[in-house]
Amino acid sequence: MNGKSVYFSVDVEDWYVAENLKGPIIREIWPSLEERARRNTEKILELLGRNNAKATFFILGYMARRDPGLVKHIAAAGHEIASHGMAHRLIYEQDPEDFRRDVTDSKKLLEDLSGRKVKGYRAPTFSITDRAVDILKESGYEYDSSLFPFSAHDRYGRLREQPVKGVRGLLSFNNGLYEAPLSMLKIPGGSFPWSGGGYFRLLPYYIFRAGVRYILASQGEYLFYIHPWDIDHAQPRVKGIKFFDRFRHYVNLKKAYSKLSAFSADFEFEPIEKMFREKETRESTV
Ligand SMILES: [Zn+2]
Repeated sequence: MNGKSVYFSVDVEDWYVAENLKGPIIREIWPSLEERARRNTEKILELLGRNNAKATFFILGYMARRDPGLVKHIAAAGHEIASHGMAHRLIYEQDPEDFRRDVTDSKKLLEDLSGRKVKGYRAPTFSITDRAVDILKESGYEYDSSLFPFSAHDRYGRLREQPVKGVRGLLSFNNGLYEAPLSMLKIPGGSFPWSGGGYFRLLPYYIFRAGVRYILASQGEYLFYIHPWDIDHAQPRVKGIKFFDRFRHYVNLKKAYSKLSAFSADFEFEPIEKMFREKETRESTV
């Protein structure tokens, strides 16, 4: 490794979970909808395996219950198992005790299925809050990866207490919880979200890659995320959603897998827990 790391993460949830489709798709009908997460996750696992790469999988508890074998399969391939909560409710729409139960139950479920300790959490639609930072720490998590410093987005969370710079890509909160923030492209003209998902689908690959290289050169680390449904061109098309939600959910799905394939050939990937191993090495050598 040359010290320039791409931290690769997958939010394991199915197409019908996405916030963009929430109008017509209420959660009560989820169990009746076609399950596509397994085959799309397998495609991502296959790409990672081809390049001998490891990643972090933030698995939604609902998906783990629906397909427990998928969690075991991801763990057996040597990837980091992390939590995307249980029910995919936005944090600021839950009361604190419901949130505590959500993150405690999902952690235990994933640990029971994988036999591994779950250290990381990613909030649904990056809806992190100050209160959630405390509850995550109290519930035994070591890090959060939900901070998306992009205030223009209508659904992302906001924090009053901003974490401070730690080692490598990690930030740290006052209470000891670490934060692995999603990457932004910071250039003289401004800051742009550049960390994956819909942004990855939207941009031509060579522009995306140039941005990643720039972030690696200027910041040292780059954190990427994708959902299994981001590469699923054949997913059911839902009617009755707003134009902008339709655009951000469906834009360039067809090309996403070949872009992901090119991305995985161009860069070396690591799981987020690797940031901690670097941190521990540094602490023990000080
Ligand atoms: Zn999600």
